[in-house]
Amino acid sequence: MIHKAHGYWIKEAGPQPEQPSLEGAHSFDALVIGGGFTGLWTAYHLKTAEPDLKIGLLESGSIGHGPSGRNGGFVDAMWVSFASLAARYGPGPALALARASERSVAQVGEFCEQHQVDAWYRPSGYLNVSTAPAQDGSWERNLNAMREAGIVDGPRELTAKQVQAVCASPAFRSGVHYGAAATVQPARLAFGIRDAISDLGVELFEGSPAIRVEDSGPRVKVHTPAGTADAARVVLANGPALAGQGSPFRRNVTLASSHMVITEPVPEVVDELGWTGGEAISDCRALLTYFRTTPDGRIALGWGGGRIAAGSRRFGRSELDAEVIEGVIRALTRYFPMLRDKRIDYAWGGPIDTSATHQPHVVSLPSGRAFAAFGYTGNGVGPSQMVGRSLASLVLDRRDEYGSLPFIEPAGALTRVPPEPFRWIGGTLIREAIERKEEAEMSGNTADPVSSMVARVPEMIGFHIGR
Ligand SMILES: Cc1cc2nc3c(=O)[nH]c(=O)nc-3n(C[C@H](O)[C@H](O)[C@H](O)COP(=O)(O)OP(=O)(O)OC[C@H]3O[C@@H](n4cnc5c(N)ncnc54)[C@H](O)[C@@H]3O)c2cc1C
Repeated sequence: MIHKAHGYWIKEAGPQPEQPSLEGAHSFDALVIGGGFTGLWTAYHLKTAEPDLKIGLLESGSIGHGPSGRNGGFVDAMWVSFASLAARYGPGPALALARASERSVAQVGEFCEQHQVDAWYRPSGYLNVSTAPAQDGSWERNLNAMREAGIVDGPRELTAKQVQAVCASPAFRSGVHYGAAATVQPARLAFGIRDAISDLGVELFEGSPAIRVEDSGPRVKVHTPAGTADAARVVLANGPALAGQGSPFRRNVTLASSHMVITEPVPEVVDELGWTGGEAISDCRALLTYFRTTPDGRIALGWGGGRIAAGSRRFGRSELDAEVIEGVIRALTRYFPMLRDKRIDYAWGGPIDTSATHQPHVVSLPSGRAFAAFGYTGNGVGPSQMVGRSLASLVLDRRDEYGSLPFIEPAGALTRVPPEPFRWIGGTLIREAIERKEEAEMSGNTADPVSSMVARVPEMIGFHIGR
């Protein structure tokens, strides 16, 4: 097994062209900081809306090599979080957001078709399964909120037998199927958007971290180690880095991590499971386990139970955590015991920007010249395309549908997370309690009372855990 930060998808996508670094003084109409999905989609929508704009994109490392190029590749709509959205924004605005996120899933596919990007886009739906009695029916709150909002053709509840017909894991019980979802090879998608925006004339810079952003004059000035760029508008799309020191949003994001493995091609196991529809599947844990197949019959499985990063550091154990990978492999063989004697080819991981609401935030900074998006909490692949549209509308000062979605909020309206070191200490204690509780439940035991109580603390203090 190769255990490296960048993982399987980036390797599979093959060698990529390098972009120059930013040197000397540059000037742009709009400058995007961050070459993940949020930044790439923002640049794409800006340039397609206004082809004459001079747009630059700065990436500290290599475009698409952050979480965007190494995630599970689940392209989900936000219906799965509808109850939470309705509680935060009200049913009407929540419906607008969920519908836009559903369109976003289809629009990713349309982009791939239009630009001939072979990102393995497969609109196969998303299945949320119970793997313990404590998870049974955990989707009811969400389905009820959807029914109350008048959604009549929403997700389908599946009996245990119907779930087995989709994927015959011995650990699966009943479930719920959301139709608006797809899977992609995420690195191929990120590189495909990079190539499309480069063709459209966006200027790309790699190895060019923004080390200082000055937003006090008439234009925003961004410094990199070897150059400067001034721009009329700037978009902060540097995801998990916004949780760190010096970020205006460090009190709004916690950094956790997610880690994955992928098997050798096992098409005979996929057939044995009857899992031939390509569905994206996850269990109903708060520390979610998610799994999918690939066109060559591999099974990829990830776990959102990585550690809380001390001081919101994005590297180190946020990317490479052998102990967490052991937990991922235990989950893989628990759900798919027939994989015990199969080879695991790759393991990897990456940071997760976790907001207090577990929903993404799109924010205008007080100057009105800079904008940011972050806090996807492990669910950014589908929504980032829609977020890119919203950020483009804000940059262009268009109060259209995407410029008015309810997740656009002033910075002061965001829920705050505790400062360090309390964030790390508290977050770690809560994560460990949730892990003990969920492990006990999946082993058919009752969790100890202390773990159960600590696991409830986030809800008690107004933080949302799960969807
Ligand atoms: C293992 C794993 C599995 C996941 N699975 C899924 C999934 O299946 N489905 C899903 O929806 N989501 C998933 N996610 C989450 C998803 O990957 C993210 O929500 C999404 O990629 C966020 O995109 P982004 O562009 O906002 O951030 P990123 O992808 O983090 O991109 C930000 C970029 O900014 C760059 N950067 C940072 N600081 C600077 C700076 N100062 N200057 C310039 N550039 C900078 C970084 O190098 C990075 O390339 C997963 C994440 C991980 C780690």
